[in-house]
Parts: sequence; C-alpha cells; structure tokens
Amino acid sequence: MIELPEAIVISKQINDELKGKTVKSAIRGQNPHRFAFTGKYSDKDFSEILIGKIIKKSWPNGNVILVQLDGYLLSLGCGGERILYHKHEKTIPKKHQLLLEFDDQTYLTVTISGWGEVRLLETKDLAKHPHIPYDKVDPLSEEFTLSIFKKLVKMLPEKKKCSAKKFFITEPGLRGIGNGVIQDIFFYSKIHPKTEMKSLSTKDLERLFETTRKELQKMVDLGGRDCEKDIFNQNGRYQRIMHSKAVNTSCPVCKTTLIKKKQYLGGAIYFCSSCQMVLP
Ligand SMILES: [Zn+2]
Repeated sequence: MIELPEAIVISKQINDELKGKTVKSAIRGQNPHRFAFTGKYSDKDFSEILIGKIIKKSWPNGNVILVQLDGYLLSLGCGGERILYHKHEKTIPKKHQLLLEFDDQTYLTVTISGWGEVRLLETKDLAKHPHIPYDKVDPLSEEFTLSIFKKLVKMLPEKKKCSAKKFFITEPGLRGIGNGVIQDIFFYSKIHPKTEMKSLSTKDLERLFETTRKELQKMVDLGGRDCEKDIFNQNGRYQRIMHSKAVNTSCPVCKTTLIKKKQYLGGAIYFCSSCQMVLP
C-alpha cells in the first residue's frame, strides 16, 4: 500500500522523469476494477481531456499523488497501486487500470490491487478531493510539531479509549499514515500499538513524536519501504523490521522474545511484547 513516504518518492520521480512530456493517448478502464476511484469523468472523457496535455509537476498530499496537467489534475496512489514508468512498450503490463502514452514513446501505467486512485479532476476542485483528509495533519510537514502532537493527544475525548494505532490512523489520524508505516514507528518508539494514548507520559510522547518524524524521513530518504516499488520498478531500500515474515523470529533488540502478530482494528499488528509496553 502506498503511504506517505512512497507518495513523496513517486511524486519526486514523476517530477524528475515525466515533467514536460505531452500525453499522446490515455486509456483508463481497460481492465475495469471495482475499487478504482475515477471521479466524475467517464473513461471516454478521460481520454479526450488528457490528449495533448503536458505534465507540469507532481506533488504528494498524504498518500495521494497529484499530477498537474494544464488545468486538470490526475490523482493516483491512495492504496495498493503499482505506478510504473516504461521506456519500452514491451514492459507494459497486460492488465492495467491506466495507460498514458507520451509523445516520446514512453509510458506510465497504473495497476491496482485492492483499491486506488485513477481520478481526473479540475485543478480548481482540489479542495473537494474526497481522498485527501484535509482535517488531518501531515506528520512530515512543519505544521506537525511536538506541541501540536501533544495537543492532539490532549484533545482526545476523555471517556473514550484511543490506542496508538487508532490515534495514528483514524482518531484523529495523521495524513498519509496507514497500517504499514506504523509498525516500525511503534517498534522503535517502544510503544505497543494497543497502548492507550492518554496513558503515555510526556517522555513517551516525545519519543514517539521524534521516532515518527525520524522513521518517516528515513523511509523517504531510502526511496520507500522494501515492500513497495517506485516508478522504475525498484523496491524501496527501507528495510522493515516488523512485518509478516518477521513473525516468530527473535526481536532484533532484546534478542529473546519472538515477534508476534495479531489482528487489531482491521489489520495485522506486529510487535515485541518485551520491548513494546502495553499500559493499562
Ligand atoms: Zn524485543
């Protein structure tokens, strides 16, 4: 799943590699996908609008990748997507939900697994984009400071429980953060995903804040996580510690406890029950 770090990496690559290219043809919906988020334009309109448009720039917003083309935005990402750049026609996958052909005989394809964006919208409608949670703070932005983080915790409803995982993903949630990147963030923070946010001490919160910034930045600097691909079909170089293949292997820190997996809040969590405390 594309999350904040991968959206940043892919946007940068689109800027470096695709900026200035003109769309020669645009095909969406060759392999209809139930959870391809397309927006208001039909596949036919999509093709007609994009022909002749020039790629101006790209930028990320949370886990969404936006591509500016004369008056319109192409919105990608937001889920399980493979976004690939092709210098040769022969590397184009047989099944795809988006194929852009450029005037220099290079291509961009998007193949969705799960769900994802292949949306076209007018640039003026960006504020109404349904999959950009504008109410959430981007954890890599300057806006996300330790005092804002502490304030978000303070604002949690008094009587309602809110675990670390819930806080990071949904209540209030951080923009672009999903069940993938939180695993290592919590491990390095020594915080169990089920830990009640309101029970954390000032020191715990500071460590969690610092680790969140540090690990996310590391993921960006290393071209994304090792489970995700960039537009050149290369895996990210950020090696995850907490993931499915680590289950039942020794924790790399305490060396004694085995890493566990549990289903929690609609997705697996991976953790070391010695290193990552759970407070009542
Ligand atoms: Zn451990």
